[in-house]
Amino acid sequence: MFEIVFFGTSASAPSIQRGLSSQAVLAGEYRFLIDCGEGTQRQILRSGIGFKRLNRILLTHAHLDHILGLGGLVSTFARWESIETLDIYGSRTTLDRVHALLYNVVLGYERLPVQINLLELKPGLILETKEFTVSAFPVTHRGSGSFGFIFQERQRRPFLVEQAAALGVPAGPERGRLVAGDSITLDDGRVITPDMVLGEATNGATLVYIGDIGRLDNVRQYVEGADTLVIESTFLDQDAETAARFGHITARQAAELAREMGVRSLILTHVSRRYREAQVIEEAHSVFPDTFVARDLDHYSIRRGKLAEKLTREDTRARNIAPTSEE
Ligand SMILES: [Zn+2]
Ligand SMILES: [Zn+2]
Repeated sequence: MFEIVFFGTSASAPSIQRGLSSQAVLAGEYRFLIDCGEGTQRQILRSGIGFKRLNRILLTHAHLDHILGLGGLVSTFARWESIETLDIYGSRTTLDRVHALLYNVVLGYERLPVQINLLELKPGLILETKEFTVSAFPVTHRGSGSFGFIFQERQRRPFLVEQAAALGVPAGPERGRLVAGDSITLDDGRVITPDMVLGEATNGATLVYIGDIGRLDNVRQYVEGADTLVIESTFLDQDAETAARFGHITARQAAELAREMGVRSLILTHVSRRYREAQVIEEAHSVFPDTFVARDLDHYSIRRGKLAEKLTREDTRARNIAPTSEE
């Protein structure tokens, strides 16, 4: 399961209701901030999840509505939070701009006790754990060196409880070892291998995140079969020409992509203040009913084969990681 918390869902400039682009993907112990528009740090506080472990930042591209909040966030991390290293991932173009912002301005006048690693993205794997992988793929958006991200849970093999009981595997830590891939020896000397008690592998959940995008034909393969696709919908169909001119898409185009590629749920973000939210929902729903339009501080869970589920503010606050003695 993955979760996504939206901090800012506006396009280009903030509105009264919507801040600039930023969201966090929660994956087990890991947290990833995707983009960091101006105002993000206050939205993180308002959401209640806190700054803890938010030390990996994935940047879709270099436009200011996606990166300007980094200056303030880094300054706060360095002064107030126990975050010692910060990994910032982006294309070369994006990192050049982030470097100028952080090193010429924020860190240009004083040394701050935070180590910043600027990590250049290439298409492919970014990070893998026992539970999931994160990878990047190229996105076309005004030639700015943009990337989208795929969060993919690893395949799982269910533990066949009845089979295990029939073989005499006791309830207890032995079962955990079998699930982890180790064979065990029973008291009577029989060896039980994982294959004897684990079922067919099933895929885990897939979350695909795409920020600003002007062309959909070259990302179809990455989107195919996703449980949830998060993508911009800056314009409505009535302004499709303007959308194309500025390297953006419409709500209808996003919905068509989701429908054609067998996506389970679609979450639209990067909403322009030109339109009312109801117009965006109506246009997308006419093509793809399982569409949500994200609002600031919305929180969704993403599970394999299920619709994205909207969680409550209480759920979001419950994700706050209280400092522990080891940290
Ligand atoms: Zn943008
Ligand atoms: Zn942009």
